[in-house]
Parts: sequence; C-alpha cells; structure tokens
Amino acid sequence: MIGGEALIAKLGDRLTGLRGRLTPSAEMEKITWFRAGGLAQALFQPADEEDLAAFLKAVPEEIPVMVVGIGSNLLVREGGIPGFVVRLSAKGFGEAEAISATGIKAGAATPDKRVAALAHDNGIGGFHFYHGIPGAIGGALRMNAGANGVETRERVVEVRALDRKGDLHLLSNADMGYSYRQSAAAADLIFTSATFEGYTEDKDAIKAAMDAVQHHRETVQPIREKTGGSTFKNPEGTSAWKEIDNAGCRGLMIGGAQMSPLHCNFMINTGNASGYDLEYLGETVRSRVLENSGIRLQWEIKRLGNFKPGHEVQEFLGQLL
Ligand SMILES: Cc1cc2nc3c(=O)[nH]c(=O)nc-3n(C[C@H](O)[C@H](O)[C@H](O)COP(=O)(O)OP(=O)(O)OC[C@H]3O[C@@H](n4cnc5c(N)ncnc54)[C@H](O)[C@@H]3O)c2cc1C
Repeated sequence: MIGGEALIAKLGDRLTGLRGRLTPSAEMEKITWFRAGGLAQALFQPADEEDLAAFLKAVPEEIPVMVVGIGSNLLVREGGIPGFVVRLSAKGFGEAEAISATGIKAGAATPDKRVAALAHDNGIGGFHFYHGIPGAIGGALRMNAGANGVETRERVVEVRALDRKGDLHLLSNADMGYSYRQSAAAADLIFTSATFEGYTEDKDAIKAAMDAVQHHRETVQPIREKTGGSTFKNPEGTSAWKEIDNAGCRGLMIGGAQMSPLHCNFMINTGNASGYDLEYLGETVRSRVLENSGIRLQWEIKRLGNFKPGHEVQEFLGQLL
C-alpha cells in the first residue's frame, strides 16, 4: 500500500476545488473510542454534502472509500485502512431541528445525545434512548442503534444518502431494510441526514426517561472506558453477556484488551491494547462460547482494515465445528 501523500498526489488535479480537509496517513486511533488501530491511507472531512458529492465523483471507483462516524462501534486493524476514510464534519453535517410538532431533521454528524435533547426541548417523545448512545446519527442509521426497547428504525422516516458515484438517493424507512443492529441499505451509501418522527410527550416524562437511561448506564456499563459498546449481538433467545459469563470469559484479558468485569459483553482497552489484542480477545471469547454452548456469537462491533502481517486473527481462532 502506497502512503497517503502518494495516494493524494496520484489523484492530482482531480481533488482541487474540494473545500473539505484531506489528511494523508490519518491515525485512526485518534478517532475511535478504543483508541487503537492503524492508519487510514487518507482521511477526507467534507465541508458539506455538495463537497462530499464532488469528492465521490472525483475519486476513481477502484480506490476504496468508507465512512466512519464518531468511532464508537469500530475496531481498526493494525495494518490500516486502504483508500479514503470519510468522516463527516459537525460543521457541514451536524445541524438538527424540529420540523413539525413531532418531527425532527438531523444531519448525520449530529450526536445522538443532541437529538435526544432537541426532542426533549420540543416535547417530542420516543428519542430518550439516544441519550445513552455515544455515536452520531450516521452510525445510528447504519447500525439501527437501539436501547431501552427502542430502535432507530422505529423513528426513521426518510434518509438522504450519496452513493459511491456521488449520486443522491432518498431512502424510505422500508428502503433501509432494518433488522437487529443492521441495515440492508447498499454498503456504499453515505448517509448525510435523515428525518424522524416521534410523538407528543410531556417534557417532564421525557426528562425522567432520559435520566433513567443515564443512571442505568452508569450502573451497569463501563461507559468511561475505552470501549466499543456491546462487542457481540445478542443471539436468538439469550444474551451475549450471559453466554460470555457462562464460558468463563468475564474479565478475560489478552495483552491490554479485557472483557469488562462490570459488563462482560463490553471489551475494553485497559491502556495500550492493539487492534490485534482486541480482535484476538474477541475471537478467543467466540471460540470459548462456541465450545461451551454451541453458540456462534456474531460481532456487533465493525472491524475495519487489514491485518498487520504476522498478526492475522482467524474467526473462532480457526476452531472447526
Ligand atoms: C459506551 C458505549 C455504549 C454503547 N451503547 C450502545 C447502545 O446502547 N445501543 C447501540 O445500538 N449501540 C451502542 N453503542 C455502539 C455505538 O455507539 C452505536 O453503534 C452507534 O450508532 C455508532 O455510531 P458512530 O457514529 O460511533 O459510528 P461508527 O462507530 O463510527 O461507525 C459504525 C458503523 O456505521 C457506519 N457509518 C457511520 N456513519 C455513517 C454514515 N454517515 N453513513 C453510512 N454509514 C455510516 C460505519 O461505516 C460503520 O459501519 C455503544 C458504544 C459505546 C462505546
């Protein structure tokens, strides 16, 4: 893989005129909650949707482009991410407003918490769950983020997105193809904003629900640690944390990575864990759970990029069943 400077130089004039910020060889550990991982060959932070469309049209399709949000659900491998990583700026994509008595429009870089606060201020119910999710709206739309019995899919009306060619798409709730912690919308789509619908609710009741969300999290989750939230999706009919606990993996540590003793489906970087430590720990847990209960845990955390040579991690550590 050539360096980021060389990649940008290779594209030459194609990138002139862009208003956003280009950073060669960007350190992904600075923009992920785990504070671990390798370099993105180049990072682009578009100024606004028009700038993003111009960028997508300018970059030849054989060069990979992927989008990240606030990085609260990402594990970046040590070998880094080839091509461009796009990160939406708060300035160009962070506007949120109430558009009717029960409707909200939010840019994809708006923190979920900000949407919860806006809904509260306008007496719009159904968004309190965002108060406890540390990501931004783009990540929530892609992950169907949910908590406290509510999911993003219950609120989404329409999503604006650009495809890899820079063409605009408007997706309905059905087009987003939602299921548990995922959307079937085309993988190349970069969501830029969305509209949501809630319901009328008393502000005090909304505030109480938000406080309950916060209190619950402070009590049962290691929210002040370097973590990616739930590591694995809950399997059908059981909870990931129960299976991890039963397999004896609560507190399990590999290098600087640990399954949290407080909430054992949360993986944490205790100090200087590498992307390898984190993924190796995750696959160790998967293999032990498989051995213990026959359940094949599925990653909820998105793993990105290439392995560093000699630091490859096999699914289930290569365990055959
Ligand atoms: C302490 C903690 C608690 C958490 N609790 C919860 C919880 O209760 N419920 C829950 O659902 N999640 C939870 N999470 C996980 C995480 O916050 C959510 O998945 C969140 O929605 C991710 O948003 P993000 O902006 O950080 O996205 P990232 O982690 O940066 O990206 C996640 C995925 O979304 C994609 N993506 C991001 N932005 C866009 C965009 N604009 N267009 C298209 N795709 C995009 C990325 O490509 C990636 O595949 C928690 C995480 C932490 C650290």
